[in-house]
Amino acid sequence: MSSLGGESDPVAIDDFELPGVPDAFQRLWTPHRLAYVKGGQEQVTGKHNCPFCEAPGRSDEESLIVHRGKLVFVVLNLYPYNPGHLLVCPYRHVPDYTDLTVEESAEFAALTQQAMRVLRHVANPSGFNLGMNQGVTGGAGIAAHLHQHVVPRWGGDGNFMPIIAGTKAITQTLGDVRQQVAEAWNNAEQGK
Ligand SMILES: [Zn+2]
Repeated sequence: MSSLGGESDPVAIDDFELPGVPDAFQRLWTPHRLAYVKGGQEQVTGKHNCPFCEAPGRSDEESLIVHRGKLVFVVLNLYPYNPGHLLVCPYRHVPDYTDLTVEESAEFAALTQQAMRVLRHVANPSGFNLGMNQGVTGGAGIAAHLHQHVVPRWGGDGNFMPIIAGTKAITQTLGDVRQQVAEAWNNAEQGK
């Protein structure tokens, strides 16, 4: 399976810990999290080894991209807190929200809104967590490249998809989720 973590970053499925954590919100803001961190965010020193810079260069299926905008793209989180957990990223390798240009900020906001609409259409979540972890201290897994989390929430979270246990199942499920979200996004743009 291809990893958003780059060539030298083995997929740390052992850290997935999808089931059994009752409070996803708490996990969203936990800095010591999952495989992006385990892969070593310190290794992300520039564009050449940044998963968010590498992702657009591969196919949507490989990178789990659900939408490519002009300045900003939307990708499924490889290590989701919930199924359908999306990341809204500028193509530019910038770390901080204040680094965005006016144009990037507008598209960043618009695609965050559209991500919510599409997820509502696909999976009818009853709530969302939106947020950016800024800096290592702020809990960012990849602090060097800005990304906004869009996490759909359901009462009792975990009803949307079967509980996920292994690498194979995760690959399959992420692929399915990506396809669903990408199709819904495309349909929404075409007014279907
Ligand atoms: Zn980057």
